[in-house]
Amino acid sequence: MIQRETSARMRESTINPFAGPVRTCIGCRRRELAVELLRLVAVDSANGSGNRSSAVTVDAARKLPGRGAWLHPDPGCLQAAIRRRAFGRALRITGSPDITAVSEHLLPQEQPEAPGQENR
Ligand SMILES: [Zn+2]
Repeated sequence: MIQRETSARMRESTINPFAGPVRTCIGCRRRELAVELLRLVAVDSANGSGNRSSAVTVDAARKLPGRGAWLHPDPGCLQAAIRRRAFGRALRITGSPDITAVSEHLLPQEQPEAPGQENR
């Protein structure tokens, strides 16, 4: 029962295990208190197009049934989750889900000034 390896690398996010349940952000894969994360759930978007596609929505009230995924309220984590297709895996959906609701929740409505984008 030796638990010494985590102490150093958990430094920047100090998690008090007594503060509540801990979940893993699907974007950066860091463990975080659930209260600090957004709960995302997949809903069927029945738009009559024949194809059953899923949309991901923010479960702000944390009351929606079904499988949830957790994400920091951070556009960077959203981008990471998109890149690694974490939504499909975490929410057990196929294809690329519609995450418009999530981006709108995270990104400010007004046009953000792009702070010097780096091209790599
Ligand atoms: Zn994250």
